[in-house]
Amino acid sequence: MSKVDYYQLLGVRRDADSDALKKAYRKLAVKYHPDKNPGDAEAEAKFKEVSEAYEVLKDADKRAAYDRYGHDAFKAGGMGNAAGGAGGGGFHDPFDMFREAFGGGGGGIFEDLFGGGGRSSGGAQHGADLRYDLEISLEQAAEGTEKEIRYNRAVACKNCSGSGAEPGSKKVTCSTCGGAGQVSSNRGFISFRQPCPTCHGAGQKIEKPCGSCRGEGREMERSTVKIRIPAGVYTGAKLRSAGKGEAGHMGGQSGDLYIMIHIAEHELFERHEDDLFCEIPIKYTLAALGGSIQVPTLFEKGTLKIPAGTQSGTTFRLRNHGMPHLRGSGKGDLLIRVHVEVPIKLNKEQSQKLEDYAEACGDPANPVCKSFIEKAKKFFR
Ligand SMILES: [Zn+2]
Ligand SMILES: [Zn+2]
Repeated sequence: MSKVDYYQLLGVRRDADSDALKKAYRKLAVKYHPDKNPGDAEAEAKFKEVSEAYEVLKDADKRAAYDRYGHDAFKAGGMGNAAGGAGGGGFHDPFDMFREAFGGGGGGIFEDLFGGGGRSSGGAQHGADLRYDLEISLEQAAEGTEKEIRYNRAVACKNCSGSGAEPGSKKVTCSTCGGAGQVSSNRGFISFRQPCPTCHGAGQKIEKPCGSCRGEGREMERSTVKIRIPAGVYTGAKLRSAGKGEAGHMGGQSGDLYIMIHIAEHELFERHEDDLFCEIPIKYTLAALGGSIQVPTLFEKGTLKIPAGTQSGTTFRLRNHGMPHLRGSGKGDLLIRVHVEVPIKLNKEQSQKLEDYAEACGDPANPVCKSFIEKAKKFFR
């Protein structure tokens, strides 16, 4: 007897995560639960099958073995497969699996599953939030910008407007609960009244599921959303576009779209909060004699005055040339660290002049150098 693929059985993708598996299993386990299908041998067999599939796929080791060897992975020792009969193949009692998946039994089972005592109408479920990672340049972050984002999301099916019912088809009274929206079930000594698992408490169900979305009420769509990115935005900022996430189930509210901002590295500037840092080389004659240089800023050229005698590594601050503050007005500063360059090559005339200069200097005039020589004197004997 050939067995149905476990993933197919649960109706999940091969890369489904544990949440998706649990969700799929719970849905099917409720559908085929013997309490709901008294005397129905086929439903009972199905109930065991989905339990077995879930037991294998929820366990990482068993799942890996199944992915590699298929059903053969669990035939060891000639035990036979478990689909037909109880006990074979080393699978757990399907009722234990059921209790485990619904959080250990008791009344909690059904509350958890049916969204709290049938108050929710027709199983409406909030749609999932989505995340989109967006990279922008430092200039865009400084000025603020507007971006168009294209992404895939589930939206309400256009054919059925999200109802899941084929247009023109009627809703019919749910046969499971006879329209009451509730059923009672006996587990051991206790009788539960619970929202009807077929119609999720609505008392009605769809006569003919929508052909376009197969009754899901949703379909995938390439969506576009325009977002305004405020000036001063930083890496890690999260912008929310309300209602632009996935459509809800059965008329449930849509989720939100979250745009995560990443600012690309800039070739000149490094950002520290709202200040910008930049390192620029200057000639050593300029450092010695002083003067003005043009320095890059984010949007226009700036001028920096270099005082005579500037040491390499000195940092200058250009106020209000940094990033705008995201909250409130004003800007950070631009910090420029100068790096004094010593000439690599000198021609004859240049080196002669430098030698003359060295001679003219005599003792070192630089205070840093002077204090070093003072301290190091005892080592020069
Ligand atoms: Zn539809
Ligand atoms: Zn019902």
